[in-house]
Amino acid sequence: MTHLSAVEFRALGRRTVDFIADYWETVESLRVTPDMKPGDLLAKLPQHPPAAGLGAATSWDPVFSDLARLILPALTHWQSPNFFGFFPANASFPAILGELLSAGLAQQGMLWTTSPACTELEMRVMDWLAEMLGLPETFRFESTSPTRERESSPGGGVIQGTASEALVSAIVAARHRVLKANASSQSLQLVAYASSQAHSSFIKACMITGLAKGPEDRSHCRLIDTDDNLAMRPDLLAAAIREDAAAGRLPFFVMGTIGTTSSTAVDPIDAIADTVRSHAPLAWLHVDAAHAGSLLICPEFRHFSKGVEHADSFCFNPHKWLLTNFDCDCFFTRDRDALTSAMSITPEYLRNAGTDSGAVDYRDWHTPLGRRFRALKLWLVIRHYGVEGLQAFIREHIRLASLLETWVREDSRFEVAAPRTMNLVCLRLAPRSVNGVQEQPDATNARTKAIMDRANATGKAFFSHTVLPPTAAQPHPRLVIRVAIGATLTQEAHVRNAWDLIRSLAD
Ligand code: PLP
Repeated sequence: MTHLSAVEFRALGRRTVDFIADYWETVESLRVTPDMKPGDLLAKLPQHPPAAGLGAATSWDPVFSDLARLILPALTHWQSPNFFGFFPANASFPAILGELLSAGLAQQGMLWTTSPACTELEMRVMDWLAEMLGLPETFRFESTSPTRERESSPGGGVIQGTASEALVSAIVAARHRVLKANASSQSLQLVAYASSQAHSSFIKACMITGLAKGPEDRSHCRLIDTDDNLAMRPDLLAAAIREDAAAGRLPFFVMGTIGTTSSTAVDPIDAIADTVRSHAPLAWLHVDAAHAGSLLICPEFRHFSKGVEHADSFCFNPHKWLLTNFDCDCFFTRDRDALTSAMSITPEYLRNAGTDSGAVDYRDWHTPLGRRFRALKLWLVIRHYGVEGLQAFIREHIRLASLLETWVREDSRFEVAAPRTMNLVCLRLAPRSVNGVQEQPDATNARTKAIMDRANATGKAFFSHTVLPPTAAQPHPRLVIRVAIGATLTQEAHVRNAWDLIRSLAD
């Protein structure tokens, strides 16, 4: 067995960085999705691991040739400027360097004492982000208000892997808090609420925490209907909470979404917060802004987060739309005690003076014990681009989405199928009439889906779809093509080409 020497590591490291740089220089010219079927790559990979290792850096040629020959052709190119599916999964060179440093320094930041830098850089970067997004002072470790200079607060932020994991933490904290407040009651029936347009991670979190037996079980979780803008209706939330309370159940968790997955609809957080305060004052209000949170860096979009100062927690994913490589979910709370008292457990082998002195131990903020040094990549992204650079990045995507919306509206064969709130355009074919008879909704849906499938099959761009629920104005479920504009390299020409591709397939 031989380790690579530092000299060999330098050589292979340079080669790897070159490989990555070459990839980014050519990714635009590649098919966005691979032309393959399940099992194709597996069939080309050896069934058994090598008994003898490569040993020396000079023997690594086959690795680079396999990367080019086997791995690259089997990638979906999320970093292509022609990727418009799902939501973006941004990466950038500063963040990639942050990942490299994180791997190279190989820290284990479970406790303050196991990596003070991992903990304290994360605390500071989370405070920076809270300031950048205009989040309430109560979500920061240190207040910066002139009257409360450098005072520590009961809140703070933590980096988690994903919004789904952060949501589980929020539910666990909420449950702990409400059970503590109702310690004398027996067999409480807890109920959680979100909109019918909330991400499926809400029901999944309910399944994980024992609130739902399966995806269809609604006995302890409610999906509240939405209005014509696909935003949660606070009046229906109030009615559901009242009904549960009257039946002896305990509403304990409400989630509002800023930027739903299907259409980037924005729930009215202020009205939801009012409802919670009036009808379920013990309930925890969580705001899921997984994708859209990044846009709050631009003050002109902060009307979307009105009311967030009443939330108990808020999360967003810089790994979606803020130039930071996956994984990076930023979760903020104003009640970190609720989190840590719900999840802290200290066996003898983890006891240490730092913990005893009250230092922040991030292992108490989420499920995993071990944690990577993820703050490095955020630190480098924020330092490289600056707040102004990040604002410009977001604003350009909003401009491009607005442009695409105009083009769609100018073409009578298409319609914009949901209000465009930010960088997502939901478009579909307009229902057509044959001999004066309008086609069935299913037929319009099928034609729209066929266009998307054909566009994706060209490999020139990639889109994904969803089905929007009926509204008062649109009484049938509508299949739409989601054009999410947010990839790191996307520019106006790529949006123009994408629209030309869709249009060319409409006839
Ligand atoms: N919430 C919203 C609004 C989302 O759009 C998504 C994913 O797209 C999620 C939550 C889940 O994100 P994650 O992959 O970070 O768990």
